[in-house]
Amino acid sequence: MPTESNRDYDPSLGRKFIFVTGGVMSGLGKGITAASTGRLLADAGFDVTAVKIDPYLNVDAGTMNPFEHGEVYVLKDGAEVDLDLGNYERFLDIDMTSDHNVTTGKVYQDVIENERAGEYLGKTVQIIPHVTDDIKRRVREAAAGSDVCIVEVGGTVGDIEGMPYLEALRQFATEQADEDVLFVHVTLVPYSTNGEQKTKPTQHSVKELRSIGLQPDIVVGRSEDPLEAQTREKIALFCDVPRDAVFSNPDVEDIYHVPLRLEEEGLDGYVLDRLGLHGEAPPHAEYDTEWRDRVTSEATATLTVALVGKYGLEDAYISVHEALKHAGLEHGLAVDRKWIHAETLANGCEGELEGVDAVVVPGGFGSRGTEGKIAAIGAARERDLPFLGLCLGFQMAVVEFARNVLGLTDAHSAELDGGTPHPVIDLLPEQGQHDDMGGTMRLGARATQITGGSLAHDLYGETCEERHRHRYEVNPAYIDDLESAGMVFSGRSGRRMELLELPEHPFFLGTQFHPEFRSRPTRASPPFVGLLDAALDGATDRTAGQTASGGEA
Ligand code: GLN
Repeated sequence: MPTESNRDYDPSLGRKFIFVTGGVMSGLGKGITAASTGRLLADAGFDVTAVKIDPYLNVDAGTMNPFEHGEVYVLKDGAEVDLDLGNYERFLDIDMTSDHNVTTGKVYQDVIENERAGEYLGKTVQIIPHVTDDIKRRVREAAAGSDVCIVEVGGTVGDIEGMPYLEALRQFATEQADEDVLFVHVTLVPYSTNGEQKTKPTQHSVKELRSIGLQPDIVVGRSEDPLEAQTREKIALFCDVPRDAVFSNPDVEDIYHVPLRLEEEGLDGYVLDRLGLHGEAPPHAEYDTEWRDRVTSEATATLTVALVGKYGLEDAYISVHEALKHAGLEHGLAVDRKWIHAETLANGCEGELEGVDAVVVPGGFGSRGTEGKIAAIGAARERDLPFLGLCLGFQMAVVEFARNVLGLTDAHSAELDGGTPHPVIDLLPEQGQHDDMGGTMRLGARATQITGGSLAHDLYGETCEERHRHRYEVNPAYIDDLESAGMVFSGRSGRRMELLELPEHPFFLGTQFHPEFRSRPTRASPPFVGLLDAALDGATDRTAGQTASGGEA
């Protein structure tokens, strides 16, 4: 096991690097393969970190549309990043920072600022060496202190945007000892129409890599089924890698099983050998098995949780989906997530929530679907259905309560209806009225103080530190009225309301923050655990009630 004493390297630098590239097409699960490799090395006792390279020109993912790109993930330092970083945090159980996400926007911004500041001493500023140097510096800095840093290059080999990165990694490898760097190429192995596994796309993408001076050390074949022996032989031969450096990563039912699959393939042992880390790793049988035990635990029951959102894409709410799954793993429950398009609920919920054990209303921006979300929250409140509202879901719970309990029928959020006479959700006066995109967003981890005796206190204890991504707040002018009518703001951060609950309800919780971003398979998020607890109680009561009245058990 690595200990402080046997780290005979400069701890301000990373030690070992695994560069992961993708071939043939994107969306192969390259990030999951990379994160799973990291998980195995972490189970062997190493400090693993990761860097995701996004070759797009955006500086960060903050302005990207979830319809197109999936969720914007938020790190503890407030960085708005690609959802892949969420996978690294979940698989490796680490907290990353903005430095772990390298984008072309960031790199060029720095290089151009340096040029304007005269730091290149009159030289012509070029992709090689100035841009590539900046990329290498970023990778080294992000890896500092880790045993192994996994660097994933987004996109596919051959993309124009990716070229400076591959060149930078090539240079990086020549600057390190051979044993310190491994190149892993993840590629698609499709079937031909007559059911044969085809290696030609893999051969072509490796050829493309080699034309820019990179030879993969390991090839991972993504395929529907395990790679056949002759497929592996062919890849080894044509891509010039040893036969035992070709690994199979077939489709699995659950992404959390990918590390287990790669472990069966012996990927961890091979990587440890090639990186010269074998002597430091414990025998395989002594690996930490917490991950394996957790993700393979048998579910004893299935709960149905409705997710009422507006972005039809599952990727747009990936962290919420995963957080529900983690809470399920903690309880030994399977969670069946029922997707409900908020716009279909605008005229009431009717049968849509039939058979649903709990309701989650996630975050979002803009007014589309908000009336449907408010209807779903009202139904959950009235029907005693366990409810969790996240960020916009929290804000809409305040709006629903103001309208239907306080009788302020036109109450709304000033973000969504600028003319409302009752802006129960609004910007605080001290926030000013900037309308600069991203300018006033409250981002990242902030502490919340929690009131004793509350539901939130049962879940979290006295404080919690969760991640935020919002502009609007509960309007202080309405807090007394809301609380007199039975809504309790059980968590606060100065003048900002962070948590709300309804003590009369079995489980009605709203969070201004996004607890889903800190949820991990082996460390589920308290609000999600509480939600499923209450949902299970409700489901059990209903079943008992039905049995007692002679209905279906
Ligand atoms: N749009 C709301 C705000 O800016 C909520 C944001 C969110 O749900 N992430 O305050």
